[in-house]
Amino acid sequence: MTDSIKRIVIAGGGTAGWMAAGLLSQTLGKNLDIKLVESDDIPTVGVGEATIPPLMTFHKMLDIDEREFLAEVNGTFKLGISFENWREKDHKYIHSFGYAGKDCWACSFLHFWLAGKAKGIDYPYGDYCAELLASHKNKFAVLPNGRMNYAYHMDAGRYAAFLRRRSEKLGVERVEGKIEKVNLNPDNGEIQSLTLASGKQVDGDFFIDCTGFRGLLIEQSLNAGFEDWSHWLPCDRALAVQTESVGEPIPYTRSIAHDAGWQWRIPLQNRVGNGLVYSSRYMSDEQARETLLGNLEGEPITDPKPIQFRTGTRRKHWVKNCLALGLSSGFLEPLESTSIHLIQRSLVRFVQLFPASGQMVQSDIDEFNQQTKLEVERIRDFIILHYKVTERDDTPFWRYCKNMEIPAPLRQRIDLFSDSARVFKIENELFGEESWIQVMMGQGITPKAYHPMADVMTEKELADFLKKLRQSTEQLVAKLPSHQAFIDYYCKMPMAQAANG
Ligand SMILES: Cc1cc2nc3c(=O)[nH]c(=O)nc-3n(C[C@H](O)[C@H](O)[C@H](O)COP(=O)(O)OP(=O)(O)OC[C@H]3O[C@@H](n4cnc5c(N)ncnc54)[C@H](O)[C@@H]3O)c2cc1C
Repeated sequence: MTDSIKRIVIAGGGTAGWMAAGLLSQTLGKNLDIKLVESDDIPTVGVGEATIPPLMTFHKMLDIDEREFLAEVNGTFKLGISFENWREKDHKYIHSFGYAGKDCWACSFLHFWLAGKAKGIDYPYGDYCAELLASHKNKFAVLPNGRMNYAYHMDAGRYAAFLRRRSEKLGVERVEGKIEKVNLNPDNGEIQSLTLASGKQVDGDFFIDCTGFRGLLIEQSLNAGFEDWSHWLPCDRALAVQTESVGEPIPYTRSIAHDAGWQWRIPLQNRVGNGLVYSSRYMSDEQARETLLGNLEGEPITDPKPIQFRTGTRRKHWVKNCLALGLSSGFLEPLESTSIHLIQRSLVRFVQLFPASGQMVQSDIDEFNQQTKLEVERIRDFIILHYKVTERDDTPFWRYCKNMEIPAPLRQRIDLFSDSARVFKIENELFGEESWIQVMMGQGITPKAYHPMADVMTEKELADFLKKLRQSTEQLVAKLPSHQAFIDYYCKMPMAQAANG
C-alpha cells in the first residue's frame, strides 16, 4: 500500500467534488497537496437542490457564514417535505424536521397523543410541532438555541461555485481537462495517476472519485461492484425543468405522487426547481414529459433535462487508494434529499479514518465500508417505506409497490409500529423516531395500541398537558414572520443575481 498520503486528487467537480475539496482543504489542507480535475465539456448532473438539517454541521466545519451562503445560492429555508397523493389521491401530510410535543423516557409523545385521541382530544399531530405548523402557515425564522430545525433549498450550480471559490483560496488547485485514462500500479493495483485528453498526467497518493454515475475510478477501473436495489426503489429516470416563481417561496419541498413516480417542487428565491422521478417500466418518456409539463405552476425557463439512473450502492465505497463520493458511490433516489447528506457523511468518516500513521491500513478501509453500508441501508429502508405503505392501487406501479417484498428490518419496524406505536432509532441512523412516526402515520399506519404510561395521568391531567403543548406551539408560530419576510431581512440575493437565474 501507498507509504503516506500527501497528494490527494479529486476527480470531478460537481457538488461531491467541491464538497470534498472544501472539507479537506479546511481540515487537513496544510499537510496535503489537493488537486481537483474536472472537465467543462462534461456537465454536472445539475440537480440536488433540497437538503436536510445536518448540512448546517458541515457548514460549521467549513466556517461558512449562513447569510452569505444563502444569498449566494439564492437559498430558501426548508422545514420538511409535503407528501401529496402518496397515501391516496388528494391526501397530504408533511414530514417535518421538527419534534412534536414532549417525550418521556419510556415512550415518545405519540403515545400521549394516541391516549388523547382515544379520549376524544382529536387535534392533528402537527399542531404539537412548531416546524409542521409553521410550514402550514408559510412562516419561518432562525430562532435561538436551534428551536426551529431547518435545512435549505439552494441552486446546485451556485453551491459548487461557492465551495470552489473557498477551496481555491485555501490552496486547492483546479485542473481543467477530460480524464481519459486511469493508470494503475501493476504491483498493487492502486491508482497511480490520471491521464487527461491533453496528455497531461496527474499523479496522486489517494484519489476521490466524484465523476458522477459513471464511477470512472471506483467502478470502471477498480471494479467495486454494484448492489442493485431497483426491485425496492423502482424509479430509474428523471426529467428536470426550472420554472418562474408564481408566488412567495414556501418553506418546504413538495413531493407529489403521480401514476408511476413523483414530482418535486423546490422553491428558490428567484425560480422553482421541478422534476419528475419515474419508473421507465411503468411510464414512457413521452408520458413523463406530458405529466411534468402538465403539472407545472410557472412558465418553464429551461428545457426539460432527462436523467437516467439505477438505484443501489457500490459494494465497497473505499477500494485500495480510492474513495467514491456522491453519485459515483451509488444513488438511492432523491425522495428524502439524502444524497448530499451522504457525501457529507462519507467525507467526515474519511477524515475520521484518515490514516493515523500516514499509512493506509486495511482495517480502516473495512471500518469505513462497514459503517457506510449500515448507514445507507437504513436510509434505503426509510425511503422504501414511502412506496410500500400506501393505500394506492390505482395503477400498475402503485400495485407493484404495495405488494413488493421489503427488507426484513423494515418489515419488523412497520410491524412494531403497527402493533404498539414503538420506534427505536438504530445507532448512527440518520432518520430518528420522529421522522419514522410522521411518515408511518402519514402513509396510513394507525398503531393498534399505545404505552400504558400515557394512561397514568387522569383524563383532565392529560387534557391540560396536551393543551399547554398545543398553545405553546401556536404562540411560537404566531410570532414568526412570513418565510419571504424573513428571507428579505436575513439573506436576500443581490438583484443582479436574480436576473442571471
Ligand atoms: C433527479 C435527481 C434529483 C436529485 N435531487 C437531490 C436533492 O434534492 N437533494 C440531494 O441531496 N441530492 C439530490 N440528488 C443527488 C445530487 O444531485 C448529487 O448527489 C450531487 O449533485 C452530487 O453529484 P456528483 O458531484 O456526484 O456528480 P455530478 O454532478 O455528475 O458531477 C460529476 C463531475 O465529474 C466530472 N467528470 C465526469 N467525467 C469526467 C472525466 N472523464 N473527466 C473529467 N471530469 C469528469 C464532471 O465534469 C462533473 O464535474 C439528486 C439526483 C438526481 C439524479
